[in-house]
Amino acid sequence: MTETTKVNLLGLTQPQLEGFFESIGEKRFRAGQVMKWIHHFGVDDFEAMSNIGKALREKLRACAEIRGPEIVSQDISSDGTRKWVVRVASGSCVETVYIPQAGRGTLCVSSQAGCSLDCSFCSTGKQGFNSDLTAAEIIGQVWIANKSFGTVPAKIDRAITNVVMMGMGEPLMNFDNVVAAMQIMMDDLGYGISKRKVTLSTSGVAPMIDELGKVIDVSLALSLHAPNDELRNRLVPINRKYPLAVVLDACKRYISRLGEKRVLTVEYTLLKDVNDQPEHAAQMVELLRDVPCKINLIPFNPFPFSGYERPSNNAIRRFQDLLHQAGHNVTVRTTRGDDIDAACGQLVGQVMDRTRRSERHIAVRQLGDEAAPSASAANRT
Ligand code: SAH
Ligand code: SF4
Repeated sequence: MTETTKVNLLGLTQPQLEGFFESIGEKRFRAGQVMKWIHHFGVDDFEAMSNIGKALREKLRACAEIRGPEIVSQDISSDGTRKWVVRVASGSCVETVYIPQAGRGTLCVSSQAGCSLDCSFCSTGKQGFNSDLTAAEIIGQVWIANKSFGTVPAKIDRAITNVVMMGMGEPLMNFDNVVAAMQIMMDDLGYGISKRKVTLSTSGVAPMIDELGKVIDVSLALSLHAPNDELRNRLVPINRKYPLAVVLDACKRYISRLGEKRVLTVEYTLLKDVNDQPEHAAQMVELLRDVPCKINLIPFNPFPFSGYERPSNNAIRRFQDLLHQAGHNVTVRTTRGDDIDAACGQLVGQVMDRTRRSERHIAVRQLGDEAAPSASAANRT
């Protein structure tokens, strides 16, 4: 068997790993042992697996591997924020950001290199789509981050308490790999993170929200960004396919299936003079009247040639107050990790664009502080 045909065990869920052991004529319980070595202890060498006999270790070495994405750079900010740039198999680079906050630590994870949905204010969208990340490349970001804190078994003083799928890409457009990775995040043999503290953010791929509800019960965030279809069609083009009424219905169904007082997180990037006016707040109140939710306002993070501006602090506060007065729980995201360019609007991803704009190999990307409030949101639910 050659290197390239080896099975990468990093991205396998527990049932998949059990199936793998069965397929090589071994007992299913080996899956649990190997998962602990991989995810709790960050091991990538079968030789280190001391409770596995020599013969099986050799067999594994011949047909399997444990391989995360290649680390291109890692930075630690003076405020504790950490950022990794990793290269995935397609050759593109994506980012992962860790944001420490009082009592919790949130990891913001990428799901695709680039994105095909082309939201008008998003630099990932401007880069076009390159590739879906494999499950190993998605969970590999958690694996790398976890290892950077030492190999602490799950649930004991864990550095990563929350994960938000809010890095590059639209997670619902890479459904199977994202679901598998989230299952490993929540598995006690993986990272043992509570379902409430794993959050998937979507721009509104309505049918896939229903599919998600059939297989997993993580927290859900909707990138709303506009309170009416006319404006949302311009800012979030997927809205032309799945308009507000359709996507909000799907979100309500998803949330109601979860029960237990879980709510939708509504993300709203504030763009100066575009969606930040009092009438937008009023429409939003009306739109969300029967949606159990909390609202996360994201002041726009500018990037070159975006054509948008961030509203003034006064305008942001005014918008927040209007929603708050209508009874909403509203938070505003703050910037973290400035000194390592990990703040919203500062991250750099390198996407080999297959579809268009191929001259733009380097573009500014935001995600650093996007994770923080959703993490707090996930904590509160
Ligand atoms: N594709 C998913 C998740 C990744 S983006 C989604 O769209 O939900 C995470 C969040 O950052 C989304 O709400 C997105 O709309 C927002 N965002 C994108 N570009 C931004 C920018 N320049 N400034 C502020 N927020 C931005
Ligand atoms: Fe894609 Fe999300 Fe950016 Fe829209 S906001 S282009 S869905 S990554």
